[in-house]
Amino acid sequence: MSECVFCRIVRGELPSWKVYEDEEVMAFLDINPATPGHTLVIPKKHYRNILDAPDEVVAKVFKVAKKISEAVVNGLGAKGVNVITNAEEVAGQVVFHFHVHVVPRYSPDELRFEYTPKKYSEEEAEEIVKKIKSSLG
Ligand code: 5GP
Ligand code: ZN
Repeated sequence: MSECVFCRIVRGELPSWKVYEDEEVMAFLDINPATPGHTLVIPKKHYRNILDAPDEVVAKVFKVAKKISEAVVNGLGAKGVNVITNAEEVAGQVVFHFHVHVVPRYSPDELRFEYTPKKYSEEEAEEIVKKIKSSLG
Protein backbone atom coordinates (compact mmCIF):
# COMPACT_ATOMS: atom_id res chain seq x y z
CA MET A 1 0.00 0.00 0.00
CA SER A 2 3.00 2.28 -0.50
CA GLU A 3 1.10 4.43 -3.01
CA CYS A 4 -1.83 5.05 -0.63
CA VAL A 5 -1.89 8.77 0.13
CA PHE A 6 -2.86 8.29 3.78
CA CYS A 7 -0.18 5.61 4.32
CA ARG A 8 2.29 8.13 2.94
CA ILE A 9 1.01 10.75 5.40
CA VAL A 10 1.41 8.23 8.26
CA ARG A 11 5.01 7.57 7.18
CA GLY A 12 5.71 11.30 6.98
CA GLU A 13 6.39 11.14 3.24
CA LEU A 14 3.63 13.67 2.64
CA PRO A 15 2.94 16.66 4.89
CA SER A 16 -0.23 17.03 6.94
CA TRP A 17 -1.61 19.39 9.53
CA LYS A 18 -1.62 16.82 12.32
CA VAL A 19 -3.90 17.39 15.30
CA TYR A 20 -3.58 14.04 17.11
CA GLU A 21 -1.42 10.92 17.11
CA ASP A 22 -1.04 7.80 19.24
CA GLU A 23 0.41 4.36 18.49
CA GLU A 24 -2.46 3.26 16.26
CA VAL A 25 -4.43 6.33 15.24
CA MET A 26 -3.70 9.67 13.62
CA ALA A 27 -5.88 12.72 12.93
CA PHE A 28 -5.11 15.60 10.57
CA LEU A 29 -6.96 18.41 8.82
CA ASP A 30 -8.74 17.55 5.58
CA ILE A 31 -6.93 19.31 2.74
CA ASN A 32 -10.26 20.54 1.31
CA PRO A 33 -12.33 21.32 4.40
CA ALA A 34 -16.12 21.40 4.24
CA THR A 35 -15.95 23.73 7.26
CA PRO A 36 -12.99 25.07 9.30
CA GLY A 37 -11.51 22.27 11.43
CA HIS A 38 -12.77 19.41 9.21
CA THR A 39 -10.56 16.56 10.43
CA LEU A 40 -9.85 13.05 9.20
CA VAL A 41 -9.22 10.30 11.76
CA ILE A 42 -7.41 7.23 10.42
CA PRO A 43 -5.83 4.02 11.67
CA LYS A 44 -2.09 4.03 10.97
CA LYS A 45 -2.43 0.54 9.57
CA HIS A 46 -4.03 0.34 6.13
CA TYR A 47 -7.61 -0.93 5.83
CA ARG A 48 -9.81 -0.15 2.84
CA ASN A 49 -12.81 1.16 4.81
CA ILE A 50 -15.13 0.39 7.75
CA LEU A 51 -16.31 -2.80 6.01
CA ASP A 52 -12.74 -4.11 5.91
CA ALA A 53 -11.37 -2.92 9.27
CA PRO A 54 -11.55 -5.13 12.41
CA ASP A 55 -13.97 -4.09 15.20
CA GLU A 56 -11.12 -3.05 17.54
CA VAL A 57 -9.67 -0.72 14.94
CA VAL A 58 -13.08 0.81 14.19
CA ALA A 59 -13.63 1.31 17.94
CA LYS A 60 -10.27 3.05 18.37
CA VAL A 61 -10.80 5.35 15.40
CA PHE A 62 -14.29 6.35 16.56
CA LYS A 63 -13.00 6.92 20.11
CA VAL A 64 -10.54 9.45 18.71
CA ALA A 65 -13.29 10.92 16.50
CA LYS A 66 -15.22 11.67 19.70
CA LYS A 67 -12.19 13.38 21.26
CA ILE A 68 -11.75 15.51 18.15
CA SER A 69 -15.49 16.28 18.14
CA GLU A 70 -15.26 17.63 21.70
CA ALA A 71 -12.12 19.56 20.80
CA VAL A 72 -13.68 21.35 17.82
CA VAL A 73 -16.69 22.31 19.93
CA ASN A 74 -14.56 23.51 22.85
CA GLY A 75 -11.67 24.94 20.85
CA LEU A 76 -13.19 26.27 17.63
CA GLY A 77 -16.62 27.26 18.86
CA ALA A 78 -18.43 24.72 16.67
CA LYS A 79 -22.03 24.20 17.74
CA GLY A 80 -22.08 20.53 16.69
CA VAL A 81 -20.42 17.97 14.40
CA ASN A 82 -21.18 15.51 11.64
CA VAL A 83 -19.17 12.30 12.03
CA ILE A 84 -19.13 10.43 8.74
CA THR A 85 -17.36 7.52 7.12
CA ASN A 86 -17.77 6.71 3.43
CA ALA A 87 -17.37 3.09 2.34
CA GLU A 88 -16.90 2.26 -1.35
CA GLU A 89 -17.35 4.41 -4.43
CA VAL A 90 -21.14 4.23 -4.31
CA ALA A 91 -20.95 6.06 -0.97
CA GLY A 92 -18.52 8.67 -2.24
CA GLN A 93 -15.31 7.11 -0.94
CA VAL A 94 -12.35 8.53 -2.84
CA VAL A 95 -9.41 7.62 -0.62
CA PHE A 96 -9.42 3.88 0.03
CA HIS A 97 -7.76 3.98 3.46
CA PHE A 98 -10.36 3.82 6.25
CA HIS A 99 -11.05 7.31 7.61
CA VAL A 100 -13.70 9.07 9.65
CA HIS A 101 -14.59 12.68 8.87
CA VAL A 102 -15.25 14.96 11.83
CA VAL A 103 -16.97 17.99 10.33
CA PRO A 104 -17.50 20.88 12.75
CA ARG A 105 -20.84 22.64 12.30
CA TYR A 106 -21.25 26.35 12.84
CA SER A 107 -24.33 28.50 13.04
CA PRO A 108 -24.69 29.51 10.31
CA ASP A 109 -22.60 27.46 7.87
CA GLU A 110 -23.06 26.58 4.22
CA LEU A 111 -22.95 22.80 4.48
CA ARG A 112 -26.10 20.90 3.49
CA PHE A 113 -26.71 17.14 3.31
CA GLU A 114 -29.73 16.88 1.09
CA TYR A 115 -31.89 13.95 0.05
CA THR A 116 -35.57 13.36 -0.46
CA PRO A 117 -36.96 11.31 2.43
CA LYS A 118 -38.97 8.25 1.29
CA LYS A 119 -41.66 6.22 3.03
CA TYR A 120 -41.83 2.46 3.66
CA SER A 121 -44.93 0.36 3.31
CA GLU A 122 -45.44 -1.95 6.30
CA GLU A 123 -44.46 -4.96 4.12
CA GLU A 124 -41.29 -3.32 2.79
CA ALA A 125 -40.15 -2.35 6.28
CA GLU A 126 -40.79 -5.86 7.62
CA GLU A 127 -38.94 -7.47 4.71
CA ILE A 128 -35.95 -5.19 5.16
CA VAL A 129 -35.81 -5.75 8.93
CA LYS A 130 -35.97 -9.52 8.30
CA LYS A 131 -33.07 -9.39 5.82
CA ILE A 132 -30.86 -7.23 8.01
CA LYS A 133 -31.54 -9.29 11.14
CA SER A 134 -30.81 -12.58 9.42
CA SER A 135 -27.50 -11.17 8.11
CA LEU A 136 -26.24 -9.96 11.49
CA GLY A 137 -23.29 -12.07 12.60
P1 5GP B 1 -13.70 10.31 1.08
O1 5GP B 1 -14.62 10.85 0.04
O2 5GP B 1 -12.79 9.22 0.58
O3 5GP B 1 -14.44 9.93 2.33
O4 5GP B 1 -12.83 11.55 1.50
C1 5GP B 1 -11.47 11.69 1.28
C2 5GP B 1 -11.05 13.02 1.89
O5 5GP B 1 -9.63 13.07 1.90
C3 5GP B 1 -11.54 14.23 1.09
O6 5GP B 1 -12.34 15.05 1.95
C4 5GP B 1 -10.25 14.93 0.65
O7 5GP B 1 -10.33 16.34 0.72
C5 5GP B 1 -9.21 14.38 1.63
N1 5GP B 1 -7.88 14.27 1.09
C6 5GP B 1 -7.52 13.71 -0.11
N2 5GP B 1 -6.19 13.75 -0.27
C7 5GP B 1 -5.69 14.35 0.85
C8 5GP B 1 -4.37 14.67 1.28
O8 5GP B 1 -3.36 14.44 0.59
N3 5GP B 1 -4.24 15.27 2.49
C9 5GP B 1 -5.31 15.56 3.27
N4 5GP B 1 -5.08 16.15 4.45
N5 5GP B 1 -6.57 15.26 2.91
C10 5GP B 1 -6.76 14.67 1.71
ZN1 ZN C 1 -3.24 3.38 3.30
